[in-house]
Amino acid sequence: MLPTSALDPATAEMAASERLPVTPKVDAASAHASRLRPLQVTWELTQANGWKSATARSPKGHRDNRQFSTAEAFHLIEEVGAMRVPLLALTGGDPLLRPDLFPIIEFASNRSVRTSLTLLPTPAVDARIMGELKACGLMRVGFWLHGSTPTLNDGHWGMSGLHRRTLEMIGACHEVQLPVQVNTIVARRNFHDIDSMIELLIRLDVAMWNVFFFVPASRDEADKLLSPEAHEEVFSKLYAASKRVHFQIKTTEGPHYQRYLLQQRIRESRGRLTEADVANCAPKGVNDGKGLVFINWRGEVYPSRFLPLTAGNVMGQSLAKVYCDSSMFVSLRDSSRLKGKCGRCQARNVCGGSRARAYVMTGDLFASDPCCALEL
Ligand code: SF4
Repeated sequence: MLPTSALDPATAEMAASERLPVTPKVDAASAHASRLRPLQVTWELTQANGWKSATARSPKGHRDNRQFSTAEAFHLIEEVGAMRVPLLALTGGDPLLRPDLFPIIEFASNRSVRTSLTLLPTPAVDARIMGELKACGLMRVGFWLHGSTPTLNDGHWGMSGLHRRTLEMIGACHEVQLPVQVNTIVARRNFHDIDSMIELLIRLDVAMWNVFFFVPASRDEADKLLSPEAHEEVFSKLYAASKRVHFQIKTTEGPHYQRYLLQQRIRESRGRLTEADVANCAPKGVNDGKGLVFINWRGEVYPSRFLPLTAGNVMGQSLAKVYCDSSMFVSLRDSSRLKGKCGRCQARNVCGGSRARAYVMTGDLFASDPCCALEL
């Protein structure tokens, strides 16, 4: 049962009054999922957001009653724990607007579910809050930083002062020795800034840089996409940086970076390895629906937060069932469904292309990623 010692009295009362049991049975689907499991579940805790930005797609400043209750949140954490998912990435909206944020993190920690938390650069965040988050068992804090300069970052949000505020918050994390992750959406407007970003992140002493390759919300935003050649240019800078920086570099919606890494291995092997050798030996890549799951504030399950097709809802179904058995997730893990260049590509099991970008740009979930420069 719920460890009431982990909760303040108000939250304990909240949890007790909710409909769901906080200790679900681990069903057959969960057992199956222990063999087939996501590597990361990203969970949008809330859409509530104290400030509106020019780029927010659906800003809301209030709690919607379709949002997860505390007991439902605990239920989901139990299931993530039963599936032995390595990372539960908590995001928002502004997660600090959830009154049960700290109990949620503590509940996860008590069940050995590792959590990261992405925060917005609001005035509410200071070293005291960072210290409390760390004490609850939070593993890492993430911040969005879309450029090395205030012009680039604040221009993305359409609000001034956020670049400075984000750097202050990173400093607050260092005060309490809470590791920091920086997330950057790379698009046409800022890809020339990669070198400067790398230098800034070195100075900021971050633990991880998560580079999101832009996925448009619709074809109307196609002009913001990086060209295939610009993707390669960014890959080359990330690869060079990965050899000299102390922080981990991760990509999101950039699975072809894995193909780029394979090509580097082949080149550096000086002919001892072929493309087929490397592709056959490489671990299967992580991609939308293939290791990754996104759950929105209403419990809807998506292969990616950028892919607007839902496969179920954890309010009424088990996450394991949706991940392992829903036709969408099953088909996304089947590389024989890929079409066009991605379907012919030797690296399709390692890469497979961004399914989100393919879907938004073509309407076909299995079409080629339009941002890959590989020539076949
Ligand atoms: S063609 Fe498709 S599968 Fe092959 S590297 Fe490019 S995006 Fe990946």
